[in-house]
Amino acid sequence: MLMAMLALDDLLKNPFETFRIADELRKELVGDTVTYVVNRNINFTDICINDCKFCSFRNRRRYLLSIEEIRRKVEEAVEFGCTEVCIQGGLLPDADLDFYVSILHAVRDVDRKIHIHAFSPMEVVHAARNSGMHVEDVLRTFKKEGLGSMPGTAAEILDDRIRAHICPKKLKTAEWIEVIKLAHKLGIPTTATIMYGHMDGWDERIQHIMLIKKIQQETGGFTEFIPLPFMWRNNELGKRFRGSSGFEDLLMIAISRILLYPEVRNIQASWVKMGLKLAQAALHVGANDLGGTLMEENISKSAGATAGEYLTPEELRELIAVAGRVPRQRDTLYNLIE
Ligand code: SF4
Repeated sequence: MLMAMLALDDLLKNPFETFRIADELRKELVGDTVTYVVNRNINFTDICINDCKFCSFRNRRRYLLSIEEIRRKVEEAVEFGCTEVCIQGGLLPDADLDFYVSILHAVRDVDRKIHIHAFSPMEVVHAARNSGMHVEDVLRTFKKEGLGSMPGTAAEILDDRIRAHICPKKLKTAEWIEVIKLAHKLGIPTTATIMYGHMDGWDERIQHIMLIKKIQQETGGFTEFIPLPFMWRNNELGKRFRGSSGFEDLLMIAISRILLYPEVRNIQASWVKMGLKLAQAALHVGANDLGGTLMEENISKSAGATAGEYLTPEELRELIAVAGRVPRQRDTLYNLIE
């Protein structure tokens, strides 16, 4: 209905009007509350057999955390008051189902309550291939062993022509959709992401967002949408593309809010990728979530993000309050925490 009234061209040609509409829709859908989650990232290895051209993380230190080290990190997260651990890593050549399950067990050994948000669709496919299993059985096992939700990363841009250039060995668009839909079917919610500001243009971005909308209409399994600007430092793609402007980042947030209305309630501004002040501005053009405290954020830092490694919950609350919004802690699934 709304889209019938708004031509996409108009959204791009009249950015300030686009910002205003997005802010109105945000207010109507979720009010003035801006949420954040207290979480810790655990990137268990940077060793990876893929060669994504935008990746600044792969094989930099060639480290692999032991199960004991993962346990210790989970213990620290629990002490810090984290409600979630977000676990992802590079693709180890022989990582199979048992390997990924051993990580889930390491978390569960320390704490049975902390939410495990882990393993991208690419990691799920990798586990399935290395174990000679179907993706659905891998997901079923992960869920049984404690997986609470999955990051909808590895989506990058859901356009196979661009994927062939920027991440030729990564799963194809149809495979990403398949893993996500299967996860939703099994009751594993996921986030949805887009990485923009490289070879892509608005056509591909809008096509990507509309694909997310369609999946959400079918499954209702996305908790949020996170536009991620391409970080150009220390990677091959960065030699050709220098990423998006801050204004374009705001326009991405606003257009995401408008196109995904009303199916996707939560639009996240990533303070790690956007920087703190731009993330605050994003709260006025459609975003209603700032993501996590992200104690230990290795991936964006390798690509040149300068916003810091983590924010304390107090710092995040202040950031939101200064932007004129009401800060509320949430869990991974957007239940508000008192
Ligand atoms: S983005 Fe992920 S899959 Fe691609 S090279 Fe980097 S670590 Fe590997």
